[in-house]
Amino acid sequence: MARELSVEMIPALTDNYIYLIHDPSDDSAAVVDPGEAAPVRAALAARGWRLTHILNTHHHGDHISGNVALSAETGALLIGPAADAHRIPGLRHGAVDGETLKLGRWTAEVIATPGHTKGHVAYYVPEAGAVFCGDTLFALGCGRLFEGTAAEMWASLVRLRALPGDTRVYCGHEYTAANAGFATTVDPDNAALAARARTVAALAAAGTPTVPSTIAAERATNPFLRADDAALQAAVGLPGADPVEVFAELRHRKDRA
Ligand code: ZN
Ligand code: FE
Repeated sequence: MARELSVEMIPALTDNYIYLIHDPSDDSAAVVDPGEAAPVRAALAARGWRLTHILNTHHHGDHISGNVALSAETGALLIGPAADAHRIPGLRHGAVDGETLKLGRWTAEVIATPGHTKGHVAYYVPEAGAVFCGDTLFALGCGRLFEGTAAEMWASLVRLRALPGDTRVYCGHEYTAANAGFATTVDPDNAALAARARTVAALAAAGTPTVPSTIAAERATNPFLRADDAALQAAVGLPGADPVEVFAELRHRKDRA
């Protein structure tokens, strides 16, 4: 897939990432999960870009708190999960699973990813070779189950795992170094994971972002995508178990780590 769009990362709050999806053909931009307005405003002004759309993956404050100011200042259309319409002030389009959103000259596919919250969605943008997955899939981790079940979250992760391997994974937080530490405890014999953990540690020590990753890298190394992998199941003492049970055990251990 040709990458006609570029993605810019804006670090925000403590460890959030806000993303700008830029169309160079007309310098329009969409923002994903603006947890605060100021750094988005500054980035748009510095580059001379025009904000046309705001996309929210879920209703948590660290993903939506910049919505109202940015949409008032720019007229950008605010889009978020239809199921969260009652708890995202100013929402103007409720996104539903399977919908293709026409955003200027490009499109985003809506993938329902419940688990972290009931209404959580991801946005897959083929023209950017990218998925914006909020707090569902993290680099080497996944979101906590605040509103959904282990079965729902596992199904959501399996859907993201099925995207093309070279899809870049733009997640909501920089949690990778801590996630790597946990992952190596539950999947100690995974050589690809060990190599990635070394890379992540070096990046983290240098203060360099570890995001984006790719779907292929997550498939190979993220324990939460590997609950149906025989080696991981054996490593956590659940050989042959239902992947939902293995996933629930992994999530439980991570919550206590
Ligand atoms: Zn969240
Ligand atoms: Fe978050």
